[in-house]
Amino acid sequence: MTNEAHSPRRRPLAWAGHSHVFRKSPRAIPIEAHCEMLQKLGLNYFGFGHPWSAQDLALISEWEGSEEKKRLYHFDQVWRTMEPSFWTDPGRFQDWRTKYSTSDFIFEVDCETPKTRFGHLWWLGWQPEYAPWHDYDAYWSQWEVSEGRRQGDPPPLFTMRMQVQVIRSQVAQGALPVYAHPTSWWWQDGQHVSNIASTLVPDILTGQAAGCLVVMGYEATHRHYQELWFNLLNKGYFMTGVAETDACLDMVPFERAVFHNRTSVADFSTRGIQAELIAGRNVMTTGPHLQITCDQFGPGDVCPAAGGPLKIMCSNIRPEHSYRLAIIHNGRIARDWEIQGASEFRTYHIHDGEGWTVARLINECLPHDAALTNPIFFKNPPVRVTGQKLPEDEITWWNYPGALDLCYYLAKGDWLSDFPGREPGEIPWEAFRWDDWVALLSKPG
Ligand SMILES: [Zn+2]
Repeated sequence: MTNEAHSPRRRPLAWAGHSHVFRKSPRAIPIEAHCEMLQKLGLNYFGFGHPWSAQDLALISEWEGSEEKKRLYHFDQVWRTMEPSFWTDPGRFQDWRTKYSTSDFIFEVDCETPKTRFGHLWWLGWQPEYAPWHDYDAYWSQWEVSEGRRQGDPPPLFTMRMQVQVIRSQVAQGALPVYAHPTSWWWQDGQHVSNIASTLVPDILTGQAAGCLVVMGYEATHRHYQELWFNLLNKGYFMTGVAETDACLDMVPFERAVFHNRTSVADFSTRGIQAELIAGRNVMTTGPHLQITCDQFGPGDVCPAAGGPLKIMCSNIRPEHSYRLAIIHNGRIARDWEIQGASEFRTYHIHDGEGWTVARLINECLPHDAALTNPIFFKNPPVRVTGQKLPEDEITWWNYPGALDLCYYLAKGDWLSDFPGREPGEIPWEAFRWDDWVALLSKPG
């Protein structure tokens, strides 16, 4: 690790994002207690998501509890009379940042928004512009399925902002988006409930995604997230992979806070983390430290040759457990090692081949213990999606003929008739219909 980007002068920072502070209980633990606990867990940054306080929870309960209020709100008929609201008062967010951040811990505000039938985003550096649930799907329930809607009913009209419209607005204010739980879906009362990132492919193809992609979360080795990410990489598009907690801090404390990220920052701040994510320098982990380098190049870098000597280093692992370390090249395992009886492991591999390479470590004795690096690229630089400059004018791909049908193919679960027998959370890459999107977007809108 010799170049500046991977130099030891940088400060290693453990961070986690995507959370909900007061999800259900108005008597939940206050934010300051969480800050203390998260620091004890070794985190240097945590993204605190809405509802942030008992008052936020009361407000969202009031507004979400009434269909009529929700609808009025979403048509902006009520919202305009409500400003200024404490919801979006930048002062209170700044007060928290000042009060709870220390020299070792960054308090940051997050908000999972939009949450619509077409997918969810969360943020590093979300900026309050509307109420936190402004971009929640009004006509479908919080799980994006209308209670009582019969299978086969046409979906209610979509009147919300599309993900890329929220991205455009937030990015202009300095936020970095993350596409949440991209393949997540399940059954509820016989209905397909979708949290699937249904707009991801057209967002990427029109150069408007600009965000990171969740590749670790709910499971340490989420093979369907990985399948999606690996295929996007094979298409030449690089979204920096990150881990998410999706923790409801008042319900099962930190059950998911185990999924976090490690990155070395030059600047110990939210902006500093954003800069590293844009460069692709991030490792997803539940605890083990994992790093991969090729000469002076590391995750996110482009090595000009089509190969070279890889160094792989694991530490913070348990001698009493056995691990499987793999080098994955262009989506396939190029080489792997069994690690036993070690608290640290270093190895070398002479790599040959253009494309991208990541290292993955799986604890074979614990189901929720793994680490995964971002890729080093060999010879061919990828299209960098994370932090990309957005097109000057918004590309409203959803108005193209057939575009929303392709979104609903995922969102309504129609894909299951082409890929039957899949388990919740599983979506094959083919169901994202990359080639169909390419063809659709090549026609004039
Ligand atoms: Zn979500």
